[in-house]
Amino acid sequence: MTYMCYSDLMRYLSTRNRNETTGFAQAALGGLAPDGGLFIPEEIPLYPKAVRSSLGDMGFCDVAFETIRLYTAGEIPDGTLEEIVHSAYTFNAPLVPAGDRLVLELFHGPTAAFKDFGARFMARCFSYLRRGEDRPLRILVATSGDTGGAVADGFYGIEGIEVTVLYPRGRVSPLQEKQIAGLGENISAFAVDGSFDDCQRLVKAALGDAELRRKCDLSSANSINVSRLIPQAVYYAAAAGKAAKGKWDEDGEATPRQKAAAPPHIDSSALTLSVPSGNFGNLTAGLYAWKMGAPVTRFIAATNINKTVPDYLESGNYQARLSRATLSNAMDVGAPSNFERMAAHFSWAEMKEILLGVHVSDEETRETIRAVHESSGYFLDPHSAVGWRAADKLRAEGRLSGGALAVLSTAHPAKFAETVEPLCGPVPFPPSLKNAMNREAHFRNIPADEKIFIETVGSL
Ligand SMILES: *Cc1c(COP(=O)(O)O)cnc(C)c1O
Repeated sequence: MTYMCYSDLMRYLSTRNRNETTGFAQAALGGLAPDGGLFIPEEIPLYPKAVRSSLGDMGFCDVAFETIRLYTAGEIPDGTLEEIVHSAYTFNAPLVPAGDRLVLELFHGPTAAFKDFGARFMARCFSYLRRGEDRPLRILVATSGDTGGAVADGFYGIEGIEVTVLYPRGRVSPLQEKQIAGLGENISAFAVDGSFDDCQRLVKAALGDAELRRKCDLSSANSINVSRLIPQAVYYAAAAGKAAKGKWDEDGEATPRQKAAAPPHIDSSALTLSVPSGNFGNLTAGLYAWKMGAPVTRFIAATNINKTVPDYLESGNYQARLSRATLSNAMDVGAPSNFERMAAHFSWAEMKEILLGVHVSDEETRETIRAVHESSGYFLDPHSAVGWRAADKLRAEGRLSGGALAVLSTAHPAKFAETVEPLCGPVPFPPSLKNAMNREAHFRNIPADEKIFIETVGSL
């Protein structure tokens, strides 16, 4: 890999065609490559040495700026990128001690899940890339719960962009429905009489309708978009930088009873990060941060029983399957869409060097939520509990060597209170979720009918 100057333009290519390249703006606004592949950078850039050695001393927005500019140089001016990251990241990703390890808390954003990091950058980035257009851009997004809330919140009030969220009626939690349908203004919500798959089908049909596309500018906001992926590398770099210097943060919101008596000692010689995974966008971003030079030694690819990737790591044979419902429902993915991107960058042998795959059952997830709260007072949501337990299982098998261990916490436990409270008692609610609870949901009911949906979007 060669050293990249800031003045170099990053080119993107499709995972399915290595011959044609495109710029960041086109890759971001296009979402999916024309051949159906995912956009990847031609090469993963390296942090300049001076940046790499000071990752642990910088504020979050500075790490964001130094990370993202390597992917957007020449297309987003430095001054604009700086404004974008400061406006997107009004919250932090603290690395807090909990029990015998560290937790990287990714739930301090407005919808209390890590998807805020990607969605808020993407929204501001789109607004900039669309400057000067006289027609608004309409983003269509299908959601099973978490994505819709983060995208709605991320794009709320953003000029030049209208968002339409489709969700399966009666199949998202009341809180998720308020996060999706409680904002109004440039965000509209459709409750579809059908499943998540129906919602996805309607979005695909609308995006593929030539007449509708003549009438309005359409795009989507799913997790394979490069402008959602790249900002997720930021918290890995910031956390790894801190751990390498033996640092940690104090302000964990989910740790009310757990104020460490003595500052923990962090073994900074190596770092293992456990990543609760579904579509594998989060873990792919972690691999980018590692390739860029962030001091990570190993990742745990932690899944629930939807264990397509752990099975692949073991056998070398990739077999997508139907998803099965679990307690960690944002990870119920049998055919993870970002796997194509991982496989475009890394061979099986390379993945086996850096990734340890583990899956965790619902019963183990419940046990872990209860046991961790009992021993340390720390509340885990079901997704984060999968990451925690995966590390325990590896340790018990002697497969985790020394160094620091950090679990990524992908959602605030209050977001999944119906699972957590019977195991641990009342969970403290963060202000962002209290606000969302007080909103009133406004949505349209529509049947799972492509023609009706396309007509409705055309008349919005
Ligand atoms: C989306 C989500 C995940 C899974 O992340 P991927 O990038 O799809 O692997 C895990 N936990 C929570 C709470 C989520 O919302």
